Amino acid sequence: MKPVRSMVLVSSDPESIQKGAQEVFQRLQQEVQAFGLEEEIAAAMVGDVGRHDAIPLLIVYPEAVIYGPVKPDDVRFLVEEHLLKGRIAAGLQAPARELSGRIAWLSARKGTLPAEQRIVLERAGLIDPEDIEDYIAHNGYEAVGRALSEMTPAEVIEEITRSGLRGRGGAGFPTGTKWRFVAKTQSDTKYIICNADESEPGTFKDRLILEGDPHSIIEAMTLAGYAVGAHEGYIYVRGEYGLAQERLGKAIQQARQMGFLGEDIFGSGFAFDIHIHSGAGAYICGEETALIESIEGKRGEPRSRPPFPTTYGLWGKPTVVNNVETLANVPPIIRNGAAWYRRFGTSSSPGTKVYTVLGSVNVTGLIEVPMGITLREVIAIYGKGMKRGTSFKLAQTGGSSGSIIPASLQDTPMDFDSFARAGVSLGSGALLICNDDTCVVDLATVLLNFFRGESCGKCTPCRIGTERTHQILTNLSEGIGKLSDLDDLLVLADGLNQLSNCGLGQTAAAPIRDILKHFRAEVEAHVRLKVCPTGVCSMSGRQAKAA
Ligand code: SF4
Repeated sequence: MKPVRSMVLVSSDPESIQKGAQEVFQRLQQEVQAFGLEEEIAAAMVGDVGRHDAIPLLIVYPEAVIYGPVKPDDVRFLVEEHLLKGRIAAGLQAPARELSGRIAWLSARKGTLPAEQRIVLERAGLIDPEDIEDYIAHNGYEAVGRALSEMTPAEVIEEITRSGLRGRGGAGFPTGTKWRFVAKTQSDTKYIICNADESEPGTFKDRLILEGDPHSIIEAMTLAGYAVGAHEGYIYVRGEYGLAQERLGKAIQQARQMGFLGEDIFGSGFAFDIHIHSGAGAYICGEETALIESIEGKRGEPRSRPPFPTTYGLWGKPTVVNNVETLANVPPIIRNGAAWYRRFGTSSSPGTKVYTVLGSVNVTGLIEVPMGITLREVIAIYGKGMKRGTSFKLAQTGGSSGSIIPASLQDTPMDFDSFARAGVSLGSGALLICNDDTCVVDLATVLLNFFRGESCGKCTPCRIGTERTHQILTNLSEGIGKLSDLDDLLVLADGLNQLSNCGLGQTAAAPIRDILKHFRAEVEAHVRLKVCPTGVCSMSGRQAKAA
């Protein structure tokens, strides 16, 4: 990319596109040409920029002036005023507000906000995700070039192992170890699967990586293929992620045309190619063996394990299954080295974690921060505190299958081991921040309602257990529960955890155990006093009416 005087970015997340971002971008290109500014001004559609209150957004760099919502008819005035005459286009600036996401990160670089540490999201919201040359201009395909020309497959695995990278899908399994298992298994055929079936409610980090930086996943899968001896990969993308699928499709085509996919990549003799497989809306297909069954054309039900996919995966062949965020860490590690990566995060959980921050904080959105940051810091620094007049009560990590974190654990470092020692899990990356208006019985009922709907029904503990626990919680929330129900809930929770076939059933009971451990008095009030202390549950409404 040639040096330019100004760079203009247009938000192109699905909502921005629906509100006319493409028309704005087209008008921008036309007006830049009409004013004869093509040599001085570059423009790109760049995915989600972290702000949705005034979209489509148009951001002019290097001064980082934010305009929005911009309509096509605004563009001529904006180009003439700002890009030609160097003045702010009056009346078109987005309302001033707290910033999040890419905008916050760029502002932080100017010293106005605390900086995130961006490794995975380094390019998301900054480059044109549909332009391979923009990716290459930002160090793209450098890691795979280096690996194929200077490193053996064993050295690539060794570098990933030494980096300490652990899976970001929730389990935290060491990535290098997984790759080594597959590399050591003798087979004529092996596969790499990118698990992009991001279905946890409230989690959208993988979508933004795919929409904002699709080539990084292609590069990472190629590196994984080279390391373990696989020549074919699948990206299993959630069916609802239309824009991500479209951009991945374009990126794969561009990578094939430029020789980054296909035969003899970088003249190394190594061949690798990638297919996209669209999911069909089943939460359970985010479980790796159900995902594999789904690619094989079968009903998406988890397999019994062992054998694990590393030895018996797709079509019975050794298979690496890695989450999108996990893979997005791979090229930077190969490019910069394991020692560089270990500078971030904690000794047992190096690197960063991408979180979607949701709920009762002043600023919601996507952040990437070092592993080991505390919940209190996330709320204060990036959430800009709790919403006015409310106080923190709990956080729910990782969508439905994470843990409920009470205020007493706010200062626990958020990394795999510290959270495990505290008896909670980091989950996939959603942080739902709840204030004191939240009822824990209501929260658990909503979560169990989700699980009973998404249980694939293959095994009895999960199929029946999620139904039964949901029924008991519903009774509690309606004021018709008994104290013995709380014991029954714990027995059912143990059964779900110990007897279910896969992670869905095993983690479905986590909210029940968490609320009885940390908020038992509030749960008991629903039984002893027939009162919902927060006034959320339906019986409060009936009592209010009666009064
Ligand atoms: Fe299906 Fe639930 Fe059993 Fe998993 S635990 S296999 S989702 S029934």
